[in-house]
Amino acid sequence: MANLRWLFATNNRHKLEEAREILAPFAEICSLEEVGIDVEVEENGQTFLENARIKAEAYSKLSGLPCFADDSGLCVDALNGAPGIFSARYAGEPCHHGHNNAKLLAELKESVNRSAHFHCSIATVGLAPENPHFEGKVFGQIGWELSGEKGFGYDPLFIPESYTQTFAQLGPEIKNRWSHRALALNQMAEYLVRS
Ligand code: IMP
Repeated sequence: MANLRWLFATNNRHKLEEAREILAPFAEICSLEEVGIDVEVEENGQTFLENARIKAEAYSKLSGLPCFADDSGLCVDALNGAPGIFSARYAGEPCHHGHNNAKLLAELKESVNRSAHFHCSIATVGLAPENPHFEGKVFGQIGWELSGEKGFGYDPLFIPESYTQTFAQLGPEIKNRWSHRALALNQMAEYLVRS
């Protein structure tokens, strides 16, 4: 199993770090860049899982490797689940984390309800017998201002349940244990142990 080579359909170094930490006993995890793929796939699904599946299938075909892809985002209760699957381009394209965070703070300016969760869906291609998928959610609150320098995306605004600091302040050791992605990856690891 440890000789297996899996393509993780991302170039995000934070995501790769999380995946490598959790899946190292099972497989070597490569990024798109490492296998020489520089093609963008249109994510035109209606759900996180549909987008993850679109990416996993497309990049597995392009690389000829077993592949998994994640699609993730932030869902804010007071905004009826927005930005959701549009998290990356919330403030328009191209993706700019600073603009996205500024927009989120502006949208929530009047709101005392700060509840939110991160969602992650992981789709697989090449994982016998049925290409399973895995989901993870982490619940928390949106802060009133940006705090912390670590992580990426909405991390400086997201305070996970049971903590008083944002993911960007807590850093990778804590985040990689409790994040939506870590929860989904841990389910994948459990599946690999069983199979
Ligand atoms: P994707 O899964 O790369 O499409 O992620 C979409 C967007 O969701 C990212 O650009 C971030 O804005 C946000 N996001 C996903 N996961 C995280 C996370 O772990 N921390 C902060 N933001 C995240």
